[in-house]
Order: sequence, then C-alpha cells, then structure tokens
Amino acid sequence: MNNENTRVAIIGGSVGGLAAALELRRSAKAEVAVYERSAGQMQARGAGVVMQPDVEWLLAQYGTKAEDVSVQLKERIQLEQSGQSFRQRAPQLMTAWDTLYNTLRKPLQDSCYRQDSELVELRQEDGNIFVRFLDGYETSSDFLVAADGVNSTCRSILVGKAAADYAGYVAWRGLENENNLPVNLVRQLADRFTHFYTPGMQMLCYLVPGSDGSTQEGQRRVNWVWYVNTPRHSLNEILTGESGRTYKSFVPKGEVNYDAAQRLRKLANTHLPPVFKELVLQSELFIQPVQDVASQSRLHGHCALIGDAAGTVRPHTASGTSKAFADATLLAMTLNGWNRGNPLPIDRLHCWERQRQSELNRLSSMGIQLAASSGLGVVAAPQPWALNKNEA
Ligand SMILES: Cc1cc2nc3c(=O)[nH]c(=O)nc-3n(C[C@H](O)[C@H](O)[C@H](O)COP(=O)(O)OP(=O)(O)OC[C@H]3O[C@@H](n4cnc5c(N)ncnc54)[C@H](O)[C@@H]3O)c2cc1C
Repeated sequence: MNNENTRVAIIGGSVGGLAAALELRRSAKAEVAVYERSAGQMQARGAGVVMQPDVEWLLAQYGTKAEDVSVQLKERIQLEQSGQSFRQRAPQLMTAWDTLYNTLRKPLQDSCYRQDSELVELRQEDGNIFVRFLDGYETSSDFLVAADGVNSTCRSILVGKAAADYAGYVAWRGLENENNLPVNLVRQLADRFTHFYTPGMQMLCYLVPGSDGSTQEGQRRVNWVWYVNTPRHSLNEILTGESGRTYKSFVPKGEVNYDAAQRLRKLANTHLPPVFKELVLQSELFIQPVQDVASQSRLHGHCALIGDAAGTVRPHTASGTSKAFADATLLAMTLNGWNRGNPLPIDRLHCWERQRQSELNRLSSMGIQLAASSGLGVVAAPQPWALNKNEA
C-alpha cells in the first residue's frame, strides 16, 4: 500500500473545478492543483443561480449557510404583456455565480490555484497524466478532473469530436446593482421571481447578492435573463463583439455590439410588459447562446469529466451548478481510499459514471421539454429575432 497522497490535477477553476478540489481534498485526502485559463478576474458566466439542495449541502461542509449567501424571495409572478400579473406564494433562495465562486475559493490556498493556465495537451502513460499549458508549463498527476466547461479542451482530447451544439435560442442577460436602477423599478422586482412568456421568447428576473456577497437591501443586484429564438445564421452578428472579436459561448458586458443591442431594445419595446421593457432599456447587456453538449462517457483511464464538460442541461432546470457540485462530491467519495500506485477502484468509478449519466439524461430531457413548452429552440415556433430584423 502506497500512502503518499494522490495528486489530482483539476482543469477549469470555475464552480465545478472548485467543488472538485475541495471535496477531493476533504473526502479523498488528495493533493489538489487547479489550473484555470482566465488570467484576471473570473467572468460571472452564470450570473444568478437558483439555490438547490446539492449547493446548500456543499456550502454547509465549508461552514456557510445557504441563507447567508442568498436573497430570499417570497413569491412568483407571471406577467402578461399588458403588465397584468398572476402571483402565488413561493419562498425560494437565490444566489449568484460570483458569490458561490468567492465562497468556495476562500478555503483553497492560493498555491493550489494557478490562473493563466490554459491546458493545450493531455496524455496518459501507465497511470500518470501529463499536461502542458499555453505558457509552456508542464506537470504530471495521478488523476485528472476535467471541469473546463461547455467547450472543454479535455473533452475534445479524450473523447474526440463532441462539440457543443447551438440550441436555437440566445440568452440576453443583465446584472445591475439595484442602486443604479430607478427605485420604483426595483420595488416591482424585489422579493419575487418574475416571469414573462410569449411563444419564442421567455424572460425572468430575480434579485441576487451584490458583487461583495451582501444580501442587504440597497446592496443587491437585479439579475435577468431573456431567451429569444434566434436562427443559427444570425449568431455570428450577435457574437461579434464591439472590438471585432468573435465569441463562442459568452459575450461580456461592454462587448455587445451596438447594432445587436439596438435590435434587442427594439424587440423590448414591441414585445415586453412595461416593467421588463424598462429593465432591458436600463441594463448593460451580456449574452450567452444556449448550447447543448450531449452526455459523454466520463471515464477515460485516469481522467474524469464533470460539470458542463461532461454534458449540459438547459438553464430552465436551474441545475447546471448543482449538477457540477454533485458530480464533484460523488467523485471524491468514490475515490476515497484510493492511493497512487494502486489500481483505480474501477467498479465504483463505473457506478459513479452510470449514476451521473442517468441524472444528466433526466435533467437534460426535462430542460428540453421546459424550453419547448415556450417554443424555445423549436424551429416551427415564432422567431422574434428574425422578424425583428425584417421590421428594422
Ligand atoms: C443562460 C444560462 C443561464 C444559467 N443559469 C443557471 C442557473 O440559474 N443555475 C445554475 O445552477 N446554472 C445555470 N447555468 C449553468 C451554469 O452556468 C453552468 O452549468 C456551470 O457554470 C457549470 O460549471 P462548470 O464548472 O462545469 O463549467 P464553467 O462554469 O463553464 O467553467 C469552466 C472553466 O474552465 C475554464 N477553462 C476552459 N477551458 C480551459 C482550458 N483549456 N484550460 C484551463 N481552464 C479552462 C474556463 O475559463 C472556466 O473557468 C446557466 C447557464 C446558462 C448558459
């Protein structure tokens, strides 16, 4: 029996990668190193996150109560285009991607988290994993966790062709400090999960903690998402930033090009209920096209795919983060007791893989059904973005 700590390299230092690092260290007693491509501040790609049991559980392991990092909602409101609404009591906790990231980043020492580290090469030999990064840095480990998201480089190396596929609609988003918005607008949106739907588009909004994690009134942020059916051929013009750079899966604030933003504002004027129209007009926009990655085989020798790298679910299930956390937590439990130099607990790992695949398939079908019920991603449904162009 070899008692040296097992060395695990984790590729991708977002929420899934952090969960894997913490849990592999805690429950499998591994020596972990996270390699993250971003050089500076991480971009909040998820923005608002609906609190789920797997997220609450993980936070609790590191001494954080879900209530302390969430905004508490009281009700759900369904808006009509006229502004009329239907409401029902629905208590719920809402947090944010950066709140979770900062909370989970704290317990991990800086020496375990290397930024500006884009993996470009991965190979396995006799139970050793060798990786190389864009800056030329090379290292090896006994196990590798691929948590590098929807356009995973690890997945393309390990699985081959498994590119993300555009789902037929784009998520336009906003995340504004409540203090930067008119008081009356915030009053209409606070304490509730507000929804609007018309075939081919759907919009929702809720408040989340401020960028410093504060949940106090006045310090929170207003988070909204507006899904709009958009033909594939229009994607290029939407994903080309003001700087001329073309983005794959995320156009950050400040980069949404002027023409696309103007078109969206026009769509807001003609289609949205007054409160949502005002919110869109007052917000700095950012964009995520909705993409599908079909469920992948997760185990490849001494490498495992988790989170979005292993397959995506549509955002309507509000479970992308909790799925990544459960992948990480259960993988760490599975590797508990395994030491470097010994054979992998292959039966337990296959059991982990089957369980996670089945959960992913369940959530994935549910997300596609939820989207289709609003005509999202359905070619025969109204295509507001294309229509808007013809009207322009
Ligand atoms: C519109 C929209 C709304 C959403 N809303 C919600 C929601 O309400 N609730 C929820 O739970 N989820 C939501 N999600 C999903 C959620 O954002 C993701 O499921 C979650 O972030 C997945 O985490 P991850 O760690 O697997 O991947 P990611 O968060 O994508 O992280 C991947 C990381 O890997 C890094 N990376 C990539 N390539 C490399 C490389 N070659 N080398 C090193 N590092 C690399 C990236 O920089 C990134 O930091 C939403 C997604 C979308 C598109």
